[in-house]
Amino acid sequence: MKIDNDFNIDAIGDDHIGSASDTPLRKDAFKLSNSEKIESIKADVQHILETLGLDLNDDSLKGTPNRVAKMFVNEIFGGLHPDKKPSASTFENKYKYGEMLVEKNITVYSTCEHHLLPIVGKAHIAYISNGSVVGLSKMNRIVDYYAKRPQVQERLTIQIVKELQEVLGTEDVACVIDAKHLCVNSRGIRDVASSTVTSEFGGKFKTKETRREFLDYIKLDTEF
Ligand SMILES: [Zn+2]
Repeated sequence: MKIDNDFNIDAIGDDHIGSASDTPLRKDAFKLSNSEKIESIKADVQHILETLGLDLNDDSLKGTPNRVAKMFVNEIFGGLHPDKKPSASTFENKYKYGEMLVEKNITVYSTCEHHLLPIVGKAHIAYISNGSVVGLSKMNRIVDYYAKRPQVQERLTIQIVKELQEVLGTEDVACVIDAKHLCVNSRGIRDVASSTVTSEFGGKFKTKETRREFLDYIKLDTEF
């Protein structure tokens, strides 16, 4: 797509048009250490706040550039760094459990890459074992790793499925995400009620019955 002026760039942001399934990282993405990145971003955040006219000598504001820089690098965008990728350990499916396993209501905290505002929601994941299984918390960790990046929800959904397919050695993986985008809820169109649902169905989940079964499970109202 050719982008030739600022108007188009804005339009792409509000339309949330995604690109490839891989996060668009530059080749030199990890040339700087995390502490070098924090120092650089700190100066940038300070510049933004000062440009807005804020007095950074104020007690309440003076720690903000450092706080935001650390949060970007170590927390909300920490999943850009391959070192943070959850280990790929699996276990043998000793029980010979042959049905689908569903983990639902996994909390998603991510950041919209078009506005740098939060995406908050739930992910539901299912797989059918091909001989190996993963620990349940591994699925939460995979969701969290890919969520901690500037994201578009479609890409996040695909990245989670691809990762689990690779770890488990099977195509039979599915993911549904239902999330609120603060860029839609709190600004722009300001629709507080709307949420966005994305799904990716691999292997057996492409068939109607298997997909139906998964979607029925995630509708179950679990209360403890
Ligand atoms: Zn957005």
